[in-house]
Amino acid sequence: MLQIKNISKQYRTGELVQNALNDVSLNFRDNEFVAILGPSGSGKTTLLNIIGGLDRYDSGDLIINGISTKKYKDRDWDSYRNHTIGFVFQSYNLIPHQNILSNVELALTISGISKSERKKRAKEALEKVGLGDQLHKRPNQMSGGQMQRVAIARALVNDPDILLADEPTGALDSETSIQVMDLLNEVAKDRLVIMVTHNPELAEKYANRVVNLADGKLKCRKAIKNPNIKIWASRQCRL
Ligand code: ADP
Ligand code: MG
Repeated sequence: MLQIKNISKQYRTGELVQNALNDVSLNFRDNEFVAILGPSGSGKTTLLNIIGGLDRYDSGDLIINGISTKKYKDRDWDSYRNHTIGFVFQSYNLIPHQNILSNVELALTISGISKSERKKRAKEALEKVGLGDQLHKRPNQMSGGQMQRVAIARALVNDPDILLADEPTGALDSETSIQVMDLLNEVAKDRLVIMVTHNPELAEKYANRVVNLADGKLKCRKAIKNPNIKIWASRQCRL
């Protein structure tokens, strides 16, 4: 289980101090689809980056399977990012001059596997997202929705416990967004998916739970699909 406890984060740029996150606490189950909803600048990306070990909290704690990360060294964070987390970004972040098979293969960070095994696993990940027949295309030969599916395959190739997606449909039209959301929904069947979005319809339609952020503070936690999911007591929002 993943727990965020009283996390705060400030960014300092010259004289300006920006409170990106202000005392945020949240628990995640091993297997659920959580949407983090909030307007631009509310701290969504900061929260996701902290959960994924891409950025550090100033105070509070990120607790992974009951273990505090307060004393984590760089190599602990590296290992966490490489083995536990898969990341999907709004802008896909694919390598343009490599074909999609290589893009996925390059993300395989598990050591001690042969070249042919790498290829096999990358191919399987691309088959799972419905792109098994396009392995040798380069990203610029694909649509936005297809590129995002490649990015999801890349995020899944290490078989992470947690998939983090930062506005994964932000650059897609509504029809393609639905395809990507259906895929994320499928992925969430056997792992934790945390998706950041500013689209309330997508959040409410697909997520088991929607968390609202405003000005770096948690506003409300709402169980949507599954009424049995326990709702943790929240000062701001009593449900
Ligand atoms: P969101 O993803 O919800 O749009 P962010 O987490 O990106 O919000 O940003 C939260 C706040 O922190 C914003 O006010 C933003 O300007 C600020 N911020 C984010 N990243 C940085 C950074 N690297 N340096 C300075 N300020 C930042
Ligand atoms: Mg953002």
